[in-house]
Amino acid sequence: MRTGRLFTAMAAAAMLTLAGCSSSDDDSGSDSGSTPEASESSGGAEGTIRIGIKFDQPGLGFKDGNEYTGFDVDVAKYVAGELGYGEDQIEFVQSPSAQRENLLQTGQVDMIFATYSITDKRKEVISFAGPYFVAGQDLLVAADDDSITGPEDLEGKNLCSVTGSTSAERIKNEYATGTNLLQQPGYAECVTALTAGQVDAVTTDDIILAGLAAVPANKGKVKVVGNPFSEENYGVGLPKGSDKCEAINTAISKMIDDGTWKQLLADNVGASGYEANADLNPPEPAACS
Ligand code: GLU
Repeated sequence: MRTGRLFTAMAAAAMLTLAGCSSSDDDSGSDSGSTPEASESSGGAEGTIRIGIKFDQPGLGFKDGNEYTGFDVDVAKYVAGELGYGEDQIEFVQSPSAQRENLLQTGQVDMIFATYSITDKRKEVISFAGPYFVAGQDLLVAADDDSITGPEDLEGKNLCSVTGSTSAERIKNEYATGTNLLQQPGYAECVTALTAGQVDAVTTDDIILAGLAAVPANKGKVKVVGNPFSEENYGVGLPKGSDKCEAINTAISKMIDDGTWKQLLADNVGASGYEANADLNPPEPAACS
């Protein structure tokens, strides 16, 4: 049975290659016929959907061997299920902050669930469904550091954030004076720089920082300041003008109404001690534009 499915997938991949289409290295089965919508535009194997996630954000989007875990991953699975895709039809693709728009614009992914804030600037080149969560930008510092209690205290400090994130942009635009900003490809690298004493603080969304602070290697060494200074509305990134936005918003509303949203949040970030801002969560999906 497994062999049969594998053979079918291999045969399908071979046919795609013969037909001159770019074939992916995905290993998910493709039961053509059972899927309402194949991924038309992206070059993914027929009947599969390519979903961009983070691979290095514990509790949100994390790759551990062949396992993908986190709130974004579980929300993605739920939404894909509502669109007619089983878990074995999902191919997860690493989507670092700086590459997200490009991955969507070039058709390398069909949708992105990756702590991806909805912004007007990003909306110029891609579309968003959602939001499905609201976080806030915060700071991570050494556990014994009481000198930094908010972004105003960053003058003369070395700060780390991620290239292509709203977190780095906000520091550059609103708090840059006298702060030395180091930009890395991912937040895990920033936390390594913090625990090594190379920077004084890491900045990004509180939910991301809480997940990184809770991993055994960092526990007790760092702390989240707990003074959020932005609203980050997490959306589902889509190619500009995608016709999937309405269906995704319907799925998000259903996920919130049936209790799944609350459960997934508790399962994935509960252990870190993070508590979502209850005034802003769960959010209402915005109108698709
Ligand atoms: N939510 C922010 C953003 O989309 C920061 C987190 C991230 O880089 O994924 O830029």
